[in-house]
Amino acid sequence: MNLKKILVLGLTGAILLTGCSDRREAAQQMLENQKMENRHEATTFAMDTVMTFTVIHEDGDEIIIDAEQEIRRLENLLSVTVENSDVSKLNAAAGNEAIEMHVDTQVLLQKGKELGEKTGNAFDIAISPVVKAWGFTEAEHSVPSQEKLDTLLPLTDPDDILLDSGKAYLQKEGMAVDLGGIAKGYASDKVAELLKEKGVASAIVSLGGNVYGVGTKPDGEKWEVALANPLDANDYCGLISIENQAVVTSGGYQRYFEENGKKYHHIIDPATGYPAESGLLSVTIISDSGTEADVLSTALYVMGLEKALAFWQEHGDFEAIFVTEAGEVIATEGADACFEFEGRDNDFTYRMVERG
Ligand code: AMP
Ligand code: MG
Repeated sequence: MNLKKILVLGLTGAILLTGCSDRREAAQQMLENQKMENRHEATTFAMDTVMTFTVIHEDGDEIIIDAEQEIRRLENLLSVTVENSDVSKLNAAAGNEAIEMHVDTQVLLQKGKELGEKTGNAFDIAISPVVKAWGFTEAEHSVPSQEKLDTLLPLTDPDDILLDSGKAYLQKEGMAVDLGGIAKGYASDKVAELLKEKGVASAIVSLGGNVYGVGTKPDGEKWEVALANPLDANDYCGLISIENQAVVTSGGYQRYFEENGKKYHHIIDPATGYPAESGLLSVTIISDSGTEADVLSTALYVMGLEKALAFWQEHGDFEAIFVTEAGEVIATEGADACFEFEGRDNDFTYRMVERG
């Protein structure tokens, strides 16, 4: 073979290779375009909050409509502000009679009671009379008197919620159930289930900050959720990567009112009837279960850092990130593994807590 032939062969080889890589790139691009075409997004308002859906699937639009319907169905069962919801009927019959509950309501009441007990009553689904007294239910805020709180606190014992053969009964007149700290998490689990059943391998939903990431992003990377900076709505403290997991944040900065220069937020310490003052600005939970993540974010916020970390050490089927009033961002060991701290324009410092 003479040199010329070798050169030509070599060149042809090179061209062929480029051709091949061009084709691969084109195929890749087509795939990307298809994925973008399959990307469906929607925003809706339900359960008193803004909800967003991103679903990557060729039938994404219809699937999102199904998901919204599922959320409306749950809202109509679980909301305190929907007349004739299971919860409204239950509350109206307090001290009077047992009411038949839909199976979803039964499950949530049962879960709420169990998780309440597990958290030493930091989470309390019977806290509603106190939440109402602060005006958070009807958004007519005011600081209740101590006398008023003293009469309401005995009505907030979850042991007085009796569940039996599909019926629920609130033992004392004036009692009321509030699933505001658990229902959105439960809804996120139901939506994730529905999406998976429909064959969706890639989706992310946020039900008023109750985020659930189904599978991964279309490129195979994990979904990323920003950890809000509680002191600045336009900033964040880092990024949390998730795959088939829920992320939920509770914080006093999310809902509050001011009276005489003092801020009062919506997460009530059931021990005092006052907004929890635990030294925390926010608690974020990462868990396989949206329901648990929702409950635990509220409960650990009430507990404060020390008790919350002890609870994590003891139970450990979830991970947490705390933002403290002292200016720290603190991640549990498993959370650290999927968290990118960014202290760009904020003054927070970061540390990780190891499993003992
Ligand atoms: P979240 O935003 O998930 O932390 O839940 C807060 C909501 O749950 C409030 O708006 C109340 O409706 C209700 N809530 C407040 N404090 C508690 C508590 N200690 N346990 C259970 N639910 C609570
Ligand atoms: Mg919650």
